[in-house]
Amino acid sequence: MLKMHNVSKVYRTDLIETHALRELSLEVGAGEFVAVSGPSGSGKTTFLNIAGLLEDFESGSYQLDGRDVSRLSDDQRSKLRNEKIGFIFQSFNLIPDLNVFDNVDVPLRYRRMSAADRRERITSALELVGLASRMKHLPSQLSGGQQQRVAIARAIAGDPALLLADEPTGNLDSLMARQVMDLLEQINEMGFAKDIANRICFLDQGRILEEGPPAQIFSAPKEPRTQQFLARIVAAGRL
Ligand code: ADP
Ligand code: MG
Repeated sequence: MLKMHNVSKVYRTDLIETHALRELSLEVGAGEFVAVSGPSGSGKTTFLNIAGLLEDFESGSYQLDGRDVSRLSDDQRSKLRNEKIGFIFQSFNLIPDLNVFDNVDVPLRYRRMSAADRRERITSALELVGLASRMKHLPSQLSGGQQQRVAIARAIAGDPALLLADEPTGNLDSLMARQVMDLLEQINEMGFAKDIANRICFLDQGRILEEGPPAQIFSAPKEPRTQQFLARIVAAGRL
């Protein structure tokens, strides 16, 4: 599903070069549910943005669902992103002047789907996140937790092969964070990722420091890592 090999990314400004990813290699199979953990600045967002085709990389290779993404034109990349990827951002990234229904419709509008099919998908995604009664609300009329649930509906409405979530509860208080995590777990259990092989990759300075099952990594008494354990990749089990 996702296959990265020796991917490097350098951010350059006039004064400094930041090596955000250093020869990172990672594979995520269909049906896997992987958490990417690591301190602030370790490269989690850079990795997810590259995985989500939102950002380019310098060197290395990335195959998404068997396709080499470095060889795609901008249009092909956008199309592939739209078809294969759902992205949940820390800061929700809803469009402020569109209501809930229209926000969830945004990725679907780029597809050749009838209005009736889109409506059905939007409605069932909003039902799933418990917001079917808020379709006409604007984002500003919702709580942070509700906004993130709309963003989750938007991410799953297109039935993506890969669901990426970058610290999806980072901007929420603990109660709302719990609700959002419960929802993501529920989506996961509903068969989005069927045979869940739970795995955590711990990043440090753009490299994978450790990789393994959660119990193994969290039992190592190094640092309090649990708070940082929130960027996630879910590869759908269907493909
Ligand atoms: P994390 O999500 O783990 O906190 P990031 O992927 O956001 O880490 O950042 C990795 C490194 O790349 C950090 O040192 C950060 O300062 C740097 N970085 C990220 N984005 C940019 C950018 N647009 N320009 C310059 N440096 C960046
Ligand atoms: Mg980040």
